[in-house]
Amino acid sequence: MNRRNPGHPDVLVVGGGPAGSAAAAACSELGHSVELLDRDRFPRAKVCGCCLADRGVAGLLRFGLEELVAGGEALHSVRIGCRGRQVDLPFHGSVVLSRETLDTALLEHAASTGTRIRTRVRARVGRDGTVHATDLDSGETFERRPQVVIVADGLEGRALEDQPAFRWRVRPRSRFGAGLTLAADVRTEGAPPPGRLTMLAGRGGYLGMVRLPDGRLDLAAAIDHDAARHEGGPSGIAARLLREDGRDELSEMVSEARWRGTPRLSRSRRVACDNIACVGDAAGYVEPFTGEGMSWAIGGAHRLAGLVDAAIVEGRSLDSWRMVHRRATWFDRLRCRNIALAARHPGPAHALLRGMARLPILGSRLADSASGVAGGHRNTLAMGVRR
Ligand SMILES: Cc1cc2nc3c(=O)[nH]c(=O)nc-3n(C[C@H](O)[C@H](O)[C@H](O)COP(=O)(O)OP(=O)(O)OC[C@H]3O[C@@H](n4cnc5c(N)ncnc54)[C@H](O)[C@@H]3O)c2cc1C
Repeated sequence: MNRRNPGHPDVLVVGGGPAGSAAAAACSELGHSVELLDRDRFPRAKVCGCCLADRGVAGLLRFGLEELVAGGEALHSVRIGCRGRQVDLPFHGSVVLSRETLDTALLEHAASTGTRIRTRVRARVGRDGTVHATDLDSGETFERRPQVVIVADGLEGRALEDQPAFRWRVRPRSRFGAGLTLAADVRTEGAPPPGRLTMLAGRGGYLGMVRLPDGRLDLAAAIDHDAARHEGGPSGIAARLLREDGRDELSEMVSEARWRGTPRLSRSRRVACDNIACVGDAAGYVEPFTGEGMSWAIGGAHRLAGLVDAAIVEGRSLDSWRMVHRRATWFDRLRCRNIALAARHPGPAHALLRGMARLPILGSRLADSASGVAGGHRNTLAMGVRR
């Protein structure tokens, strides 16, 4: 592949979330000229549980972003609740960071490596691989003919709509995501303390909540379509899950709030064709129960940059990204899918919580395996089970 076009970047990245910014920074660090386009203005909010797992943290440290990690709230425990039963498990290696903070810091890091960033620009990849862009403020349109296009436009992106090879396959009965952030001065007994992730599973979906480092309360949920239709949308399901867990005051607050939604979550597609490669959610997603999407996005971006370099310098095809991506993600996705599947059935999930209460080591192992921690941790926190 040698399609250098004078006046055009070597690499054009569509999307400035964790995947796009990390891919842009990694390609810039390898010496390529990179331009990144995002339709939003930063900082911007995003439906997300905001827990960055240990592998995502490692990806940030590879960029030298120690200060960003240090500014996060370390997660030390997870409380899982199902129909009134609760179990507390130790948790390792993850930090809580608001998406405003994380995404803006990564974008600024990409800029510091030489990436040219343009926000409020929507991009679409034409059939011949030309990128057509529109400045959403001025209405100006322009085109880019880069050697490589990295598509990191997330679940909601439509940049590849004109490319039949990249059509989405959405899983039947896939859930959709929903999120809400409550102000820092919201003080209710139902809100978890800093450093603890609370996950509530039940009929119709599950809900995670954490305190962000600035004190705001982040709530993120995966919801069944049918259940949402019958119970007044994500606010109805979230309010019931909180009520079942005895958090009546918080339940009332979320039932009145405006939730942001996402398209259906579990989906896949071809991830590379010709000079186009997808990374992050744009390369497919499962469900957020184990909170690893950002880690997959950042890790994938680091891996993809090596292939982009080989494509530009040695003329290799980007098609190998399909195999590399599959090898790197299949196990995590399978694990995540199985855990999310188990959480769909409150009966067995309830029984599992009872088992964890009787055999704490089982709970500890499950927490580590659910969060993708490589292993080797010892139970450092006392585990308590209530009700
Ligand atoms: C309910 C829920 C909870 C979650 N909880 C967690 C968690 O706790 N931990 C975790 O690691 N992950 C979690 N995730 C997953 C995580 O949010 C995603 O995996 C992550 O945001 C993927 O990053 P990304 O860069 O691929 O996409 P995004 O973060 O979605 O970024 C895509 C970017 O592309 C831009 N864009 C879109 N279309 C265009 C276009 N045409 N032109 C230009 N720009 C465009 C958008 O503006 C956006 O900035 C959760 C997801 C959900 C739904």
